[in-house]
Formats: sequence, C-alpha cells, structure tokens
Amino acid sequence: MRDGALLAIRDLRVRFHTLEGSFYAVDGVDWHVERRETLGLVGESGCGKSVTALSVLRLLPPRTTEIQGQILFEGINLLELDTEQLRRIRGNSVSMIFQEPMTSLNPVFTVGEQIAETIRLHQGLTPKEAWDQAVEMLRLVQIPSPEARAKDYPHQLSGGMRQRAMIAMALSCHPQLLLADEPTTALDVTIQAQIMDLMLRLREEMHTSIVLISHNLGLIAEMARRVVVMYAGKVVEEAPVRELFHDPLHPYTRGLLGSVPWIGRKQTTGRRRLQEIPGIVPGLMEMPSGCRFHPRCPEAKEVCRREPPPTIHRDDGRRVLCWLWA
Ligand code: SF4
Repeated sequence: MRDGALLAIRDLRVRFHTLEGSFYAVDGVDWHVERRETLGLVGESGCGKSVTALSVLRLLPPRTTEIQGQILFEGINLLELDTEQLRRIRGNSVSMIFQEPMTSLNPVFTVGEQIAETIRLHQGLTPKEAWDQAVEMLRLVQIPSPEARAKDYPHQLSGGMRQRAMIAMALSCHPQLLLADEPTTALDVTIQAQIMDLMLRLREEMHTSIVLISHNLGLIAEMARRVVVMYAGKVVEEAPVRELFHDPLHPYTRGLLGSVPWIGRKQTTGRRRLQEIPGIVPGLMEMPSGCRFHPRCPEAKEVCRREPPPTIHRDDGRRVLCWLWA
C-alpha cells in the first residue's frame, strides 16, 4: 500500500452483532485509492464490498456494528473522528452515491432545495448563492431545463434523472473522493452509459477519485485503472485492470470472468461455453474452514480445506490470496 494515497484502508474488520451471534462481514481488508484514480471493487453480492464502503463514512448502525482497523483519508484515521469532525468530511471531502437514489434524496423537499442545502451547509453560502449553484450542478449533470427541474420533487423525475440529481448532490461540494455503490445497476443500458460518461467527465473536471463498486465487470473494465476483487469478506486479488482481465490469478476471478460473455471473446464464437461458478457466497454464519472459496473452487487441494491461504505479493505489484501461488 502506497504512502500518500488519498484513502488507505488497513486491516479493516467489520463485525455484526446479531441475535445468532457475532460475525465478521469484512475480515482483514486492505486497499487504497490514489488521487484522481478510479478503483474498481468487484465481487458477488454478499462479498463485503458495500459494507467496506459504508464503513468509510461510518454509515453502518453503530449499535450493532463494530469496526476495527484503520481508514486513513489524507492520513487521518476516520475511525477516530468525533461526530462533528466526521460530518465535515461527509459530503464535503468524501461523498457516496447508491444504487437507489431515494436512499439519498428526501421525498418531501425539491431536488434543488436538497442540493442547495448541502452546498449551504458545507460552503457557508447564502441561500440564493447556494440555489444558483444547485441549478449549475443540475446543468453540469446534463439535466435539461435545470431551473425548472430544481423545483421538482424526486418522484417527479425519471429514474435516470433522479440518479443524475443524486450525483449532482454528491458532487456539489467537489469531493476529493466519490464512493459509487452500484450507481447504474437500476438503470437501463443507454442511461447507464450516459451516467458513467458523466462520472468520467466529472473526474477529469473536478479531479475526483472514484471507488466504483460493481458486480458489472464490463463497467469496471471501462472505468477503472486498478481492480480489487473481494470474496466472503476478504480481498482475494488486486491487479491493474488490463492484467486482471487478461491474466486473472485467483480461481474466483477466473470464475467471474468466465461467466461473462463479452470478456471471453472465444466464448462468443462458440468455441468455449460460459461457465458459472457453482454454489453461492457463504453466509456470515457458515464460513468454510481454510480457504473460504474452497467449496466452489475447481482447483481446491487438501490444504485449501484445512488452512487459510496466505496473501502472495508479487514483484509486479499484484497480489492474490491463494495456495496455488504460495
Ligand atoms: Fe482454490 Fe485453494 Fe486457491 Fe482457495 S486457496 S482459491 S480453494 S486453489
């Protein structure tokens, strides 16, 4: 992990306390994102991607969640900040967008009021200045007639427009880091492409770093420079995007890529069939012994069932959590 990263997560462990007991949803996770970089975070649902992102802004319910490790933003451990210090960082330096815009947008205020309020709170502008800036943000995310749309309530906008409005709100304070959790999953393909173009453009214009969380490998291939693959609460592989897609090291990454038609180009010619990864991600209460992927892994050996694999750091900067490379 490089010093000077914008965000560095170190040995993050997130434990949920439930009626059935306490379980780690994220277990010893390390990754970082550089300034102006887009990092892709991939894995199936339930692998701990969203829990990791929510931990960064401490958005998990504190009564039932325990977070250990370090989350260093510009060298400051966010886990040690008090509520007021954290509020200054949320939405100001670090913003988050979700799959469902209504998670962030309040149905009883107009879109313009909500964006203006965020701007006013964080930048100390007058209500009129904040409103004008909110309209500008809607224009920036290419909402037509932004002056009129700013006076609409969220339910009056289409799904794509709401997503743009949420992005406008998330970017209204020019955050240094944007955590985007499945930002386009609920949208149709054309709108998805427009939203991703928009985020790329904003990254260039505002120099925002992006952590893009998605199970959509096509999206990750287009957007990210580096990719972290998570499985069952652990990072199983990290690599630059090109290397990961051309030469995946971990059997889970190979399984993910093998189940996507466009990536295996030979598959589209009919020479290879798509391969699904058998089974499902284990629940928190039923983590397998040894390597957590072993019940689904076509290359599992005896040691995999017995011992957790080590993380192998390769000379080319890649890392993989697997006995095959030990
Ligand atoms: Fe498969 Fe063993 Fe590697 Fe786990 S450690 S991914 S079971 S080969």
